[in-house]
Amino acid sequence: MSQKQRKIIHIDMDAFFAAVAQLDNPELQGKPVVVASPKPRGVISAASYEARKFGVRSAMSSQVAKKLCPELIFVPSDFLRYKLLSNQIRGIFKEYTDLIEPLSFDEAFLDVTENKKKRLSATLIARDIRAQIYKETGLTASAGISSNKFIAKIASDYNKPNGQKTVIPTEIADFVAALPIHKFFGIGKVTAAKMLNLGIFTGKELREQSLEFLEKHFGNSAQHYYNLARGIDTSEVKPSRTTKSVATEHTFETNLTSEIYMEEALKKITNSLVKRLKKAKLKGKTITLKIKYSDFSVQTRSKSIAYFTDEESMIFSVVKSLLYQEKPKESVRLLGISLSKLDNIKNNKSVSIQLKFDF
Ligand SMILES: [Mg+2]
Repeated sequence: MSQKQRKIIHIDMDAFFAAVAQLDNPELQGKPVVVASPKPRGVISAASYEARKFGVRSAMSSQVAKKLCPELIFVPSDFLRYKLLSNQIRGIFKEYTDLIEPLSFDEAFLDVTENKKKRLSATLIARDIRAQIYKETGLTASAGISSNKFIAKIASDYNKPNGQKTVIPTEIADFVAALPIHKFFGIGKVTAAKMLNLGIFTGKELREQSLEFLEKHFGNSAQHYYNLARGIDTSEVKPSRTTKSVATEHTFETNLTSEIYMEEALKKITNSLVKRLKKAKLKGKTITLKIKYSDFSVQTRSKSIAYFTDEESMIFSVVKSLLYQEKPKESVRLLGISLSKLDNIKNNKSVSIQLKFDF
């Protein structure tokens, strides 16, 4: 641990897609707005804070959301606009540091240990970045500031919207101890449920477990959880992410049971994915098929090919082989295809964000 203390900021735009809709359509301001298809099986991709007051959340089905808030306003997504704003915000980050790791259109980690403005206080840098984002775009952002990504990411959620929280190194232990398990960045729903079953409700109880105990129950992930419970995260801010991917998925009105229909749907999804790839001038090597079943369990099947492609027939033939590789275990609610291991050498780094499109 002779490493120099790092200063990490996690910036997270507030209800980004919904906020953009409200910014561009002033008549939507102060109203419960969601970005989603109004069809019953649509899925909410963002909810305004007015909508959240009714319990509406992202990832919820449009049907459930409408029940919670009958006057809910549905607006379609506008990815080109998000991308444009996202690039504009990235430009602001770049005035401070080149160590920027985007997690999506609306979130990024910044390492400001050494920064272009030669400033010492990451807290003040975060405050200035948020003010500048607001001034230049009209959108608000929240920030978490700490000595590692794990704590910064969780902290950005604390004073949302339009707020920020700093957790200095000496506060990390208490901060993590008080943290409910489901709030841990990097502990998914399934693992969280397993931990609750074992009587681990907060960071405090997680910390009380021995490494042996965690290994017995969580195998290879034990060391990771052991570290998280101690607020230890040595992962660096990676300016060029290696997990870049372009994805298209579709939720069906009626669950599919026949592979013939699935194949047909995948043909359309491939077509839509390829259009996105061409538009973004991206090619990739790894093709992943995502299958969400009626019981909401998700299966992914991947295959890599030897060269970068954006060719529809090539991608579809791989998708087809992935589909028939194994019988679907239940009726299918959603299918998605993504392309990763992207060739972005000739592209500038501004496309190094997760591009995900519904069609
Ligand atoms: Mg956000």
